[in-house]
Amino acid sequence: MKVSRLLITVLMAFLLTACSSAPEEIEAAGYTKAYEPLTFTDLDIPVNIEVVDGVTYADGVLIVNKEIPLPEDYNPEMQPEVIEAYTQMFEDAEAEGLYFELVSGFRSYDYQAELYNSYVARDGKEAADQYSAEPGHSEHQTGLAVDVGSYDSAVLLQTSFEYTPEFQWLKDVAHEYGFIIRYMKGKENITGYMYEPWHLRYVGDKAPAIYESGLTLEEYFDLV
Ligand SMILES: [Zn+2]
Repeated sequence: MKVSRLLITVLMAFLLTACSSAPEEIEAAGYTKAYEPLTFTDLDIPVNIEVVDGVTYADGVLIVNKEIPLPEDYNPEMQPEVIEAYTQMFEDAEAEGLYFELVSGFRSYDYQAELYNSYVARDGKEAADQYSAEPGHSEHQTGLAVDVGSYDSAVLLQTSFEYTPEFQWLKDVAHEYGFIIRYMKGKENITGYMYEPWHLRYVGDKAPAIYESGLTLEEYFDLV
């Protein structure tokens, strides 16, 4: 009886020592860090934000939204690579019996001011802000955004565009041409705009990654 109690005591002491010393040894050997799980944020590379002549870029992608403006004199006109991209997209669509039309492209600061003021006069500022940008805040001033419509549909710039065969094709392939649907459904509180299935923003070779992420430009570039 005495022997077995002694044995148990010795065994307990050994176990306690073994258990308590183990983590210290690992820590002392510098292994502790390896046991901390890596998170997505640890591996994420910080977004590079640059402002060049009043124009903001996130990892080289021009950003304009309700908070980030463009200078009044920023007047790039429609960018050639964008014209090339939507022309190719429309041609490929035609080959499948789908017909797009270009509804709107580049808009200058002054033209946006005219538009915005007319909307405010008609619907009031609160309503106008859901679908129109204040001058200096429109993506159309970048020369990188287009509004498209279905040629066969009389309905232009309305959310019912999403039910057209053209949009059903567009939503799955636009990124292959460098475009993203900028004002997404369910992201109104982030973009500040109503869902606009017709408004495409050209982001070039970053489009597939942004599309796959399912995020808005603001979320993708940590600008929220
Ligand atoms: Zn638009």
